[in-house]
Amino acid sequence: MPINLETLVLHGGDGTRVIGEPLAPAPVLSTTYFTHPDAVGFSASDLTDDAPHFYTRWSNPTLELLEKRLALLEGGEAALSFASGMAAITGLFAGRLKSGDHLVLSDVCYAGVAEYARQALPRQGVEVSFVDSSDPQNVAAAMRPNTRLVHIETPANPILKLTDIAAVAAIAHAGGAELSVDSTIATPVGTNPIALGADYVCHALTKYICGHGDALGGAVIGRADRLAELRRDVLIHHGAALSPFSAYLILRGIETLPLRMEKHQANARAVGEWLEGHPKVRRVLWPGLASHEQAELARRQMRNFSGLLSFSVKSDSAGMARQLAERLKTVSYAVSLGKTKSLCFYIGTDDILRSSFALADERAYRDRAGEGVFRVSVGIEDAGDIIADFEQALR
Ligand SMILES: *Cc1c(COP(=O)(O)O)cnc(C)c1O
Repeated sequence: MPINLETLVLHGGDGTRVIGEPLAPAPVLSTTYFTHPDAVGFSASDLTDDAPHFYTRWSNPTLELLEKRLALLEGGEAALSFASGMAAITGLFAGRLKSGDHLVLSDVCYAGVAEYARQALPRQGVEVSFVDSSDPQNVAAAMRPNTRLVHIETPANPILKLTDIAAVAAIAHAGGAELSVDSTIATPVGTNPIALGADYVCHALTKYICGHGDALGGAVIGRADRLAELRRDVLIHHGAALSPFSAYLILRGIETLPLRMEKHQANARAVGEWLEGHPKVRRVLWPGLASHEQAELARRQMRNFSGLLSFSVKSDSAGMARQLAERLKTVSYAVSLGKTKSLCFYIGTDDILRSSFALADERAYRDRAGEGVFRVSVGIEDAGDIIADFEQALR
């Protein structure tokens, strides 16, 4: 009996039903567990797949439930949770890349990942090529004999450029590399990268999956043997384990993920279409708009277009950023994305090129973003109230 996503978010991974057991799982906050000399060794290298819980940095019942549920939602064999989205992605890089290896990376992606790839990875002896992965041919051209991993983000923050996951998976595999997809913005409601050929899916659970903006978390989903290696070789020793209390909040958030994504999408459409008609607005970027350059790929690859959009204005973007920060009321002028409440933040093009992005094609980015984008994480308030707030703030 195939179980659908709307059911899995509520029941996925919750195991056998025992009379008298609580229906809502309580977070297990214990850091340590009763054990026995025959049950588990003291070293991470002794960790077996069927080892009991031993120490929470290694594994924990609440994290295990979250990991099982995420694996089911993404159609992966297993998942591994981390303290944040950054810990998950840098953990995956640490596990899969060594000195002398080559990484192909989407040139537009989460700023923290772009900066890490620009600064830290070369110091570790990892070569990085930054490519505009929205054209798969650019990925093909960047492949080298030592390419071990291709990491893409789709849709990519903050200009909502898309990458064709199936096409890039085929290119990565033909070159003997693996493909990792940061699917934080799409969520499992929108896209399942593993079904399209990806080896790993990364999520900042902090965003839509938690959804309420009150817990940091990250996860990697993929093959069970690879994730067991990652747990043993990276998570246990780097120590960026997710807090069980955060996992509990994230599990609670997941229950409403499909409902929230539906409303995020409907509101993003309403706000995006309204912004497109505004006289001060230069361009609106959202995968669900007919005007999106990759609208056909969006329809093919995304069942839900998510709630993140960006817009640019025709003149004085920096002045408009100050004006919106002062005037927006329902919408909060703040970073982050994917929570219930609407957020807006200005990302100046010169600033982000200086600090974060090593772009393959600066002109293409400037064409999309202009002087800068107002990134709007459209929340689940009444769409008319969000629009009215932008109306008065943009005046
Ligand atoms: C926020 C975010 C991250 C990083 O997640 P944190 O939990 O803040 O570390 C990575 N990728 C994307 C696309 C994000 O939006």
